[in-house]
Amino acid sequence: MSHPPLPDRDLLARQLQQLSQRDGLGDESRYARFAPALLTVAESVLTLEEEGVKGLVPRARELLADALASMSGASQRRLRAGLNWEGREQSSHGARMRQLAVDEHISDAPALAEQERSLYVPLADFILEQLAVARARAAWRKVLEAGPGAQETARFVTEQFTYYYRIFTPLAATGADIEAFLIRQARDRSDQPRDLLLAALWHFAWWLAELEDFVRVRGGNWVASTPDAEAELVAHESQSRLLLPVSEIETSLLRLSLARAERGEEVPFLAELRRTRRLQPLVNGLAKWTALCTCNPRRPRLRTCEPHQFVHATEAFAVAVEREWYRMAKWYHLPPSIVSAEHNIIGDYYLNADRNAYDLSRLRADDHDG
Ligand SMILES: [Zn+2]
Repeated sequence: MSHPPLPDRDLLARQLQQLSQRDGLGDESRYARFAPALLTVAESVLTLEEEGVKGLVPRARELLADALASMSGASQRRLRAGLNWEGREQSSHGARMRQLAVDEHISDAPALAEQERSLYVPLADFILEQLAVARARAAWRKVLEAGPGAQETARFVTEQFTYYYRIFTPLAATGADIEAFLIRQARDRSDQPRDLLLAALWHFAWWLAELEDFVRVRGGNWVASTPDAEAELVAHESQSRLLLPVSEIETSLLRLSLARAERGEEVPFLAELRRTRRLQPLVNGLAKWTALCTCNPRRPRLRTCEPHQFVHATEAFAVAVEREWYRMAKWYHLPPSIVSAEHNIIGDYYLNADRNAYDLSRLRADDHDG
């Protein structure tokens, strides 16, 4: 069974907040205001349990059960039945919940007060993280159960993306060097931070070396989720590379200088490049090229400004690689923005706290009083 995408953390946080305001939930017709995100989370918990990964999601379930318990009796019974929360039937709870969401959907959860944000956003993150980890493990277990063929595919995807990320790192760094240069230049035309151009040359040489390695070992064969996505990766990478004012001969010298540099470090690389007598012309060429930009860095003119086209292409490449990784590596679905340790502490706090001792519903009133 496939999982719906996890809901937006802010929406989930707002809906958790509503759920905690017990007074506001007495009216049965109001419970579905927080239905969309909570239903998605509940559906995901139940699907995972149905898939037999019970041991991995108890905390997410406990938090939701806790939330459900704060509702009025009638609302609670109706929502529990709709969710099939006790899991009595095995038949399509997904369809039932979708229907419930369609019937009752009113998504006007109010914005959180600042004080509430610091409580509910980490709680939403914690729930989402629990689910993301459980989903990732369930997906990986499926790969294992499906046998050697699926494992081979998983290994292939991982190895393929190892090469992409090895290119991604110096490519994104080159983009960041140039972008930082353009921002400083826009502030003050006489500010020409040479160290950023030197770093850009080094990162570019590193990127060329990783690209060469990818071509040598993997034939430079970009594999992605669709032919269009493959074409997109190729286009962003080559556009980035070709926009830089560096000739074929110079790229060869850059690669050679990096290969000769001790540990591929920047200082010995620049020393090697200086020995070829191309360092100064390369830096001058970059400086002349970046001087073409007269944009406001906040609103770059992408149609006419080459340096900004370059920065944009490097960013587009990075975004495309990330997106394709999450599309193809289904067993690895932990959202990148989530950090674990802190959320565990928050989760423990919520699970172990005495409900009578903390009354979250009072926060908003306190906020207003203050
Ligand atoms: Zn520009």
